Amino acid sequence: MLDAVFSLHTMTIRNREKGLKWTLETENLFGDVYALLERNFPWDSGKSTPTEAKAAAVINHVMTGAGLSFSGAPVKETLEEAENPIYLFGEKQWGENRFILAEFIGGRDEIKPTKETSDRVEDMRIQYRMTTAYLPAHITGKEEGMAFDGLRNVTELMIATLFYYVRNDLKLVKCAHCGKWFATKAPKQKYCNRPSPCVVKTGQVKDGRFLIRSDDALPCKTAVDRIKIDQKNKYKTLCEQLSWCGEYDETGEYDELEEFKKQCREYGREIKKAPTVENLINYSRFLIGYNEELRNRKKIGGK
Ligand SMILES: [Zn+2]
Repeated sequence: MLDAVFSLHTMTIRNREKGLKWTLETENLFGDVYALLERNFPWDSGKSTPTEAKAAAVINHVMTGAGLSFSGAPVKETLEEAENPIYLFGEKQWGENRFILAEFIGGRDEIKPTKETSDRVEDMRIQYRMTTAYLPAHITGKEEGMAFDGLRNVTELMIATLFYYVRNDLKLVKCAHCGKWFATKAPKQKYCNRPSPCVVKTGQVKDGRFLIRSDDALPCKTAVDRIKIDQKNKYKTLCEQLSWCGEYDETGEYDELEEFKKQCREYGREIKKAPTVENLINYSRFLIGYNEELRNRKKIGGK
């Protein structure tokens, strides 16, 4: 059983039986839980609908008892090996909630707190037979808080979270950079306030998503801006180099510098459309690779 108290800035969740408590940011709770479920219950959307995937998850659970969930620690990206049973908020998971939420999201990048969303959340409440526990048990005095007692599982906790967001006019947005969902009242906010996965601190081990180094955790928007500046500098340096060592055809049919600029424009267009981790990495890798190639060419050419 989970008890939850929601307020504008924090959401506190308690697992009564296990005596565990988590305090998480209101704007990130849904997105953090969903991101972890997504990672643990991967799904090929080309092969099945969320409804089919949900059914398969339930059957798999019933047949094998297999389940994945988070460790008892507060929501962090520190997960046990997939073979171990993993717990989320102290409750064992088997993935049906990941697909219930995928059904709710329905391929959207933004979910506004409209009447339609509110009706949809209400449908989910009825479908999952949540009774009074779904309704705010009490309103705390200081701010517009809500408390939900006796939530039976993480699905109910997520439905309660969505209920809170809709009631408080919070829109759900998928971050344009890291892809995790966040709740906001700002009409045009595209990025979440989580630290970008492309930033690595001094001494920290680089992973495949590493693009810039900073000792401060940079939120997604700041990181994207800095990465773009870094890419622009690399681009300028390469343009200078190519202007004197670039290859070209006397007839004017081939000019390496122009070809390079054209390729960069294509990467730039993709980034403008979607400054995702992947698109930024693709461009940086291209620039770094080109730089290395030029260096090797100079060595061979003896210049
Ligand atoms: Zn983000």
